[in-house]
Amino acid sequence: MQYYQPGSLADAVDRLKEVDEAKIVAGGQSMMPLLRQGLISPDALVDITAVPDLDEVTASDDTVEIGALVTYSELLDAELCADLDLLRDAVEAIGDVPVRNAGTIGGGVSHADPAQDLPPALQCLDAAAVSFDGDGTRRHDLSEFFLDYYLTELAPHEIVTGIEFERPPARAGGAYASDTEAPGGWSTAGIAALVVPDAEDGETCVDARLAYCAGAPVPKRVPDEIESLLVGDRIDRETVDEVAMAIVDDLELIDDVGDDVEYRKHLFRVMTKRAITTALRRSDAPPLAEAPR
Ligand SMILES: Cc1cc2nc3c(=O)[nH]c(=O)nc-3n(C[C@H](O)[C@H](O)[C@H](O)COP(=O)(O)OP(=O)(O)OC[C@H]3O[C@@H](n4cnc5c(N)ncnc54)[C@H](O)[C@@H]3O)c2cc1C
Repeated sequence: MQYYQPGSLADAVDRLKEVDEAKIVAGGQSMMPLLRQGLISPDALVDITAVPDLDEVTASDDTVEIGALVTYSELLDAELCADLDLLRDAVEAIGDVPVRNAGTIGGGVSHADPAQDLPPALQCLDAAAVSFDGDGTRRHDLSEFFLDYYLTELAPHEIVTGIEFERPPARAGGAYASDTEAPGGWSTAGIAALVVPDAEDGETCVDARLAYCAGAPVPKRVPDEIESLLVGDRIDRETVDEVAMAIVDDLELIDDVGDDVEYRKHLFRVMTKRAITTALRRSDAPPLAEAPR
């Protein structure tokens, strides 16, 4: 197997194009286990860690750009994660310190494991992955980016260069809730929530975004008709229950990770309620309203 460590994006794309079965490697946290177990055997590895300018977090009051080579630990240390609870919750849920020290944001989204913790948070932030294919850059809405298990919109020679999103309004609240007691630390039910109260009355929910992992072949933004149940009024306990049940109905669970499907549905119900109530508590809106009797 050939090993290359190109010093520019253009060189990296050239290497990927010139070898039929070439694979990108960044932090190696998913790639190395696959190689060790003989599950893949590429002809070449293109290590992109020496490509410059992909390791910065740039955040203004309005927009955020996270370079593809930013590690989870670097992201946790960035001021951005102090501001954005949703992002911090999701990154903290990933593996352990060694995994977070090596794993990169670009590798995480490109790997497209349906159980990964960060994609749902990024989907709730309406984030896009930016990629380079040698001819130019493309933006991929992360709610459309994942096509199937371990499959994305990326062409084999296309490199993710970063993640971009607009900051949610300061009055918004976000949270990620997951079942971290699962074997190996991977979530068997993970859900991200972002709620935005009305700027004028401070309590009507005007925007609600939900996304989950480990419940379908891809990390999935929840369909509009479910999210919109939370919009237009002050959020109450009954509506949160209704949303949690609707999400359970939306799941495409298969019995593959040791826990039975009914138990995982139960976890999703609990995690959904936890994510929405925590997001609400962290927003400028008043706490969860009791449903009128
Ligand atoms: C013990 C262990 C526990 C873990 N626990 C969790 C967990 O709890 N939650 C969780 O979410 N994840 C977990 N992970 C997975 C980890 O988060 C991901 O493997 C990691 O983020 C992938 O990033 P990487 O930089 O290591 O990618 P690599 O392993 O280097 O690459 C992964 C894939 O992405 C491709 N790739 C890498 N970078 C790019 C790029 N810039 N553009 C295009 N393609 C690219 C590679 O070709 C490869 O196919 C765990 C991993 C391990 C080893």
